[in-house]
Amino acid sequence: MYDKIVKFEEQYRPETIENYKHLHMHPEISYEERETAAFVAERLKKLPLDEVKTGVGGCGVSAQLRGGRPGPVVALRADMDALSITEKTAVDYASRNHGVMHACGHDGHTAMLLSAAAVLCEMKEELPGSVRFIFQPAEEKTPRGGAQGMIEDGVLDSPRVDAVLGMHLWPSLPTGEIAIQPGAVSAASDHLTIKVSGKASHGAIPDEGIDANLAAAAVLVALQGIVSRRVPPRESAVVSIGTMNGGTKYNIIAEEAVLDGTVRTFNPSVREMMPKWIEQAAKGAAEAYGASAAVDYVKGYPSVINAPEVAEIAREAAAAVFGEQGLAPEMPIPPIGEDFSFYAQKRPALFAMLGCRPQGVQPEDMPALHNDKFLPDLKALSYGVRYICAAAVTTLKRLGEK
Ligand SMILES: [Zn+2]
Ligand SMILES: [Zn+2]
Repeated sequence: MYDKIVKFEEQYRPETIENYKHLHMHPEISYEERETAAFVAERLKKLPLDEVKTGVGGCGVSAQLRGGRPGPVVALRADMDALSITEKTAVDYASRNHGVMHACGHDGHTAMLLSAAAVLCEMKEELPGSVRFIFQPAEEKTPRGGAQGMIEDGVLDSPRVDAVLGMHLWPSLPTGEIAIQPGAVSAASDHLTIKVSGKASHGAIPDEGIDANLAAAAVLVALQGIVSRRVPPRESAVVSIGTMNGGTKYNIIAEEAVLDGTVRTFNPSVREMMPKWIEQAAKGAAEAYGASAAVDYVKGYPSVINAPEVAEIAREAAAAVFGEQGLAPEMPIPPIGEDFSFYAQKRPALFAMLGCRPQGVQPEDMPALHNDKFLPDLKALSYGVRYICAAAVTTLKRLGEK
C-alpha cells in the first residue's frame, strides 16, 4: 500500500505546496481562523468524504472517511492558527496580514493534512477502517486551546476514535528525519502572574513608602531558587518571568509591580508542587521589604504523553517513509506546550516531530518556532504527507489485528 501512498503524494504535491503558500500568506490568530476554516472545508468538500462538519469547537473543521473494509477508527489532527508576530522572511509568499504570521508551522500542518485526506480518499476502498480528520483552531491559546472544544463537540466519538495521531514541524531536525518517542514529549505549560503591592511615596522620601519595585526585584531573584533548590536534581523545570512592570513615574516610589511569566514542567508531581513553591518564594521575598505578593497560577496545557503501543506502530510506518536512518535518536523533551495533550488524555495517541531544516542549513542558523524568520523546508511537506498516510494505514491495520 505504501507504493500507492508515494504515487498519490507525488500527484498531489503541487497542491500541497500551493495550499501551504496560500495559508502562509493569509494567517489568522487563534479563534479567528474563519477564512482558514472556510478554505479547509471547501477543499474537503471536493473529496469523496462521508461527512464534513464546520463550526466544530468554534471554527474547527472535522471530516470522516469510511474505508471500504470494516475496522478501527484513527483520527489525524492538524492545527490552523497563527501568531501575533510580524514576519521578517523575504519569501514571495510572506504574510499579507500585517502583524500576524504562521511562525509555528500550523500552515504546514493544515496543508499536509489536506493532502493526506486527498491521498487516503484515493485509497478509500482498501482502507481497513475509518479515518477522522481534525482541523482545530487555537492551539496557541493556552489555557483554553482549541482541542478542548473539539473534544467537547465530539470529534473523538460517533464512531468512537481508537487512536489519535498528530505531529509538529521541527526546525532542529533536518528534512528527511522524524522523531517518534514514547512517554512525555512536551511540557506542561502554566501561566504565572505575581502582583507585588507596596506603598507610594515621594521618590525623595522612600522611608515613608514601601517600594514595590525593589520587592519585585527580590521576588524575581527568589524565583530562581525554585529550579535550582526545590526541583529534584533528576527532574527538570523552567520558571521564566517575561515581563515586569512597576511604578508610575520616575520620582515616585512604586506602589505596585506585576511580574508575568511561564512555568514548564514534565513530571506531574513537580507541577503539583510549583504553586506552593512559588507562593513561598514570592511572599517571603516581598515581605522582607514590607511589601506583599499575590500569586495567580493558571494551569495551561498538560504534557503530551505518547502511548508506547501507538509509538511503535508509528515508527513502523515512519521506517517505510524515512528509512531506518531517518528515525531520529531519542531527543530531550522539548519544553514547549501543546494542546494535543488533551486528545492524548482521552485516547492512545502519538505526537511526532517532523524535521524541516533544509539541507545545508546548520542547526544554529535555523530560526526556531515562534521566530519571525521561521520557515519550514517545503520538501518536508512531502515527507509529512507520506508519513501521515502511512501512519494512518498502519495504525488501522495493527489495531484491527488485535
Ligand atoms: Zn506554537
Ligand atoms: Zn505549534
